[in-house]
Amino acid sequence: MSKRPYRPTDPNRQALMDAGHMCIIPRCPNAFGPLEIHHIDENPSNNDPENLVPVCGQHQNLIHYGTGKNKIDRKALKNYKNLARYLSNRFSRIEMRIVQLLARGETVTFLPFLEIFILALKQSELIEFKPVGLKKGAQRLIYQ
Ligand SMILES: [Zn+2]
Repeated sequence: MSKRPYRPTDPNRQALMDAGHMCIIPRCPNAFGPLEIHHIDENPSNNDPENLVPVCGQHQNLIHYGTGKNKIDRKALKNYKNLARYLSNRFSRIEMRIVQLLARGETVTFLPFLEIFILALKQSELIEFKPVGLKKGAQRLIYQ
């Protein structure tokens, strides 16, 4: 007997999962919330998960009130949704936290066995970072 696959029925939950429970805007400084669910087509009754994206309050304001270069339009939101879905499938939540730290320019120390993750991250070309040191005694790799 096979088990039925798990299917979330709550569209908000699906949108959050697609984005790895992060603001949909890449390199958002408030990526982990608090998050709101935005309707891409701005129709609040269209709860198709494809129409829903989690955003932080700051980006929700830019979506609604941003002008010129600060405007985040529907096309951009759809692209960000696709990118977020790709990334959340490729990297775990803890890895995404490391990505966020590196994107902010913070220094991150890795244990050598995480070199596989470092390699995957470099290949993704998601962010640029480089080794800045090596703690030999503790055998830790330091990247920024
Ligand atoms: Zn944000």
